[in-house]
Amino acid sequence: MLPWPLLAGLILAFGLGDLSGTSALDFSSVWHRVALWMVGLAGFAALAIGSGWFSARQFSRLYEGLPVRRFTLWLARVLEVLALALFGWAMLGLEWPRIVAWNLGARNTILVDDILIIAPFLIELLVLWSAEYPIERLLRHGGTRSGFWPYLRLRIRQTAGLLLPLLLIYGLGQDLLVRAFPDYRESSAGQLGMLAVVATCIMLASPVFVRLSCPTRRLEDGPLRDRLERLARRSGFPCRDILVWETGGSLLNAGITGALPFFRYVLLTDALIQRLDAAEIEAVFGHEIGHVKHRHLVFFGLFFVGSVGLLSLVEVGLQSLTGVLPMVPQTWLGVSLGEILEWGVALAVLGTYFFFVFGFLSRRFERQADVFGCRAVSCTSGECPPHLDPNCPIAQEEAPRSVCPSGVRIFAQALSSVAFFNGMSVQAPSWRHGSIADRIAFVEKLENHPESLRHFDRHILRLRLTLLVLLVLGTLASLLLHDGSVLAF
Ligand SMILES: [Zn+2]
Ligand SMILES: [Zn+2]
Repeated sequence: MLPWPLLAGLILAFGLGDLSGTSALDFSSVWHRVALWMVGLAGFAALAIGSGWFSARQFSRLYEGLPVRRFTLWLARVLEVLALALFGWAMLGLEWPRIVAWNLGARNTILVDDILIIAPFLIELLVLWSAEYPIERLLRHGGTRSGFWPYLRLRIRQTAGLLLPLLLIYGLGQDLLVRAFPDYRESSAGQLGMLAVVATCIMLASPVFVRLSCPTRRLEDGPLRDRLERLARRSGFPCRDILVWETGGSLLNAGITGALPFFRYVLLTDALIQRLDAAEIEAVFGHEIGHVKHRHLVFFGLFFVGSVGLLSLVEVGLQSLTGVLPMVPQTWLGVSLGEILEWGVALAVLGTYFFFVFGFLSRRFERQADVFGCRAVSCTSGECPPHLDPNCPIAQEEAPRSVCPSGVRIFAQALSSVAFFNGMSVQAPSWRHGSIADRIAFVEKLENHPESLRHFDRHILRLRLTLLVLLVLGTLASLLLHDGSVLAF
């Protein structure tokens, strides 16, 4: 649920090893650097406000939605990348962490130094959100609801609710570790262990993040709640509560949070409940249960930690690369050419890896969850029609083995409605989910074919095992090859 620009900002701020140097800068140099960054920020603000205003004007002129919507999204991505570049420059070129640690004297404080380090990025985000307001208002609220301050407050709450617990877990974890094992930083294994502990804590505590960052309420008692609770029982899926996520009726979405059964919530947005009928909501709920029953979240945690180990092999390669290159002493705004090259290659490898490997895995897992969603509303008879709703009194309280044609229809209808009411085209490509059209075509191929269903499950199992073996081997190799710091690339 962590938005990618925030994740990238966190990696820039804390994932690059210790950048705080060993001494303070002199006073005039600090002012010079802050002024330079402010000039950069002013340029970024002008660009963001200009493009926000331009896309809002285009949108109101040609209300015909999709092309303008796509253009707006594309523009937002470009601005996010620019914001990250500006922050990266502050971190590496202007030595912001050094100013925080020595000039502001925040070294060895809990949480304060972390917040100060990421502060330039948060300021950039505030500028970006403010600039996006005119177009966001038109896109999400049809130009009527929500003033500027409630809009900005909601965005701040969404980010702070994710960021603060994350920083707290990371900062406290590091502090305790340094106290218990003073030289854990010296060894790769220690750093990987730290990362695994942080990842586990985040997964266990994720409901706290979600409840802090999204306004929610309990789904009221009634036929819908009964139906969903029955489905949860039928699928052997314990959860603490079912929550309605208030979005002002602007978004159709659902999610699940928490790795522990007694501390796990399912979230359905208000618009999803208003727009879909009970069986369709049940299918969406089934999709979310599918993610848990197939342990996707746990696998992503393993994948993340293993990837850090695997990717640190890149550092070994980069070190030999920079040995071959003649070091160019020339610097540009405080960054040397060699550094730019090293960073460029590292970021390109990281980006390519996540785009292809994570994207592929995520789309496979979504398919598996889709199948679970269809199964949740399928009948057990296998002879359909006539379709026997799993909630009618004579239906058996057991999960059906296969997907029936009516189950597939209900699930496909739910997906189409989600696309339609979110103003998306069913053809629109999605990196993490795949397009709605592809997802519908996939589940339609499976109806009444238990053998292709088994084939697909085996395929996913093979994929998981292969990845796991590769990640373990990569991590072991990087631990053996260089026992320096795993994360310092
Ligand atoms: Zn999903
Ligand atoms: Zn049926």
